[in-house]
Amino acid sequence: MTDLHLDGISKSFGDVTALRDVSLDVADGEFFTLVGPSGCGKTTTLRAIAGFEQSDAGSVRFGGREMSGVAPEDRDVGVVFQNYALFSHMTVGENVAYGLRFRETPGGKSKTERVAELLDLVDLSGFEDRDPDELSGGQQQRVALARALAPGPEVLLLDEPMSALDARLRQTLRTQVKRIQSELGITTVYVTHDQEEALAVSDRVAVMNDGRVEQVGRPEDVYRRPTTRFVAEFLGENNVFAGELRDEVVEVGDAGFHLVDLDASDGSEVVFCVRPEHLVRVGKRDAETTGRRAETTDSGAENAFEVTVEAVEFLGESFRVHLDWDGRDVTLRAPERPEIETLRVGFDPADAHVVSDGRRDRSVVEEN
Ligand code: ATP
Repeated sequence: MTDLHLDGISKSFGDVTALRDVSLDVADGEFFTLVGPSGCGKTTTLRAIAGFEQSDAGSVRFGGREMSGVAPEDRDVGVVFQNYALFSHMTVGENVAYGLRFRETPGGKSKTERVAELLDLVDLSGFEDRDPDELSGGQQQRVALARALAPGPEVLLLDEPMSALDARLRQTLRTQVKRIQSELGITTVYVTHDQEEALAVSDRVAVMNDGRVEQVGRPEDVYRRPTTRFVAEFLGENNVFAGELRDEVVEVGDAGFHLVDLDASDGSEVVFCVRPEHLVRVGKRDAETTGRRAETTDSGAENAFEVTVEAVEFLGESFRVHLDWDGRDVTLRAPERPEIETLRVGFDPADAHVVSDGRRDRSVVEEN
C-alpha cells in the first residue's frame, strides 16, 4: 500500500493544454476521485500516474519514490478502462491470469489459486471457464477489475469503468467496487464525469475544470461549501447570484441580501450560491392562499424575493420548481406542488455560500 503525490503536473498536446499545474496528494488506502466535465483533464492525469503519458512539467511520486522514467509495467499499478477490453478468445480465468504475466503471483500462490481468489472477490466464483461474451456488461467489468488486481498492485486506477453500463447496474457495481476497494485497502484513483457517483463512493474528490484542480475535499464538504462558482454549479444543482456589496447588504436587482462571514469591501462584487433545497417559501400570504401552512416558513424572511413559477417537475421524493425572478432562472425543491403562480421565496443567511468566480478572475488575470 502506498500514498501518491502529484506535484505541479502540466501537459499540452500541440495547442491544447490538458493539464495546468495539477498538484494532488492521495493518502494510503484512500478512494480518491477525479470528477469534472468532458475534456477537463481527468484521463490525462490518470495516464500520468500510470506512466502512459510523460508530463511536460512536474513530478509523480508513489510513497517517497519518484516515478519519472519508470515504465508503466514497473509502477505497480492496476488499471481498468472505460471499455472492459477483455480478450474474447480467452476464458474468464485466462483473462484474469493475463494480469499476472509480468508478475510473480502474490503470496506464493499458484496461478489457479490466485484466479479463484480474485473471482471470489468480485463475486464471480466458478466463472473461470466461461467466455467473456457470455457475461453481462457489469460482470465483464468485474473480470477486468479482477485482472487489474491479480498481481496485487499498490495503486488501482479506474477510468470511467461504469460508463458503458445502464444506470441501475452502475449503482450496483459502484457499491461492489467500493466494497472491494475497502476490503483490500488499496489506494485508488477513480475517474468519472458523473458527480453523483463521485459523491457516493469517494473518501475525497478533486473537482477538475479546464486542466486545473478547482477544489479537493470530502464529498459532503465540497458539496456543502463549494469555494468556486464552477464547483457550486457542477456538483448538484445550485442557484448562483451576483451582486454588489452596499452597507453589509448584497444588492441583486432590487433585492438586498444578508449573508454571513462576508469578507469583502463596500462596492465590490459578491457571488454567492444557495442550493434549491435551501430556498424556502416565506410569508403568510401564500399560506393563506394555498391553505398549506406547512409548506411555508419565516426562516428565510430576511432574504426574500418574489418569483413566478415557470415549470414544475415531480422527482419522486420532491418537486423541482423552475422559477423566474426578473429574468433570472431560480430553482427550488419543494415537498408539494405549488398551486399558485407567484411565490415569495427566501433563504437563511447561513445557507448561502460566497464563491469565487474563477472564470471571471482568470479572464482578468489573462487579460492583464
Ligand atoms: P473525458 O471525460 O471526455 O474522457 P477528460 O476529462 O478525461 O475527458 P482528457 O482526456 O484528459 O479529459 O483530455 C483533456 C484535453 O486534452 C482535451 O481537450 C483532449 O481533447 C486533449 N487530449 C487528450 N489526449 C490527447 C491526445 N493524445 N492528443 C491531443 N489532445 C489530447
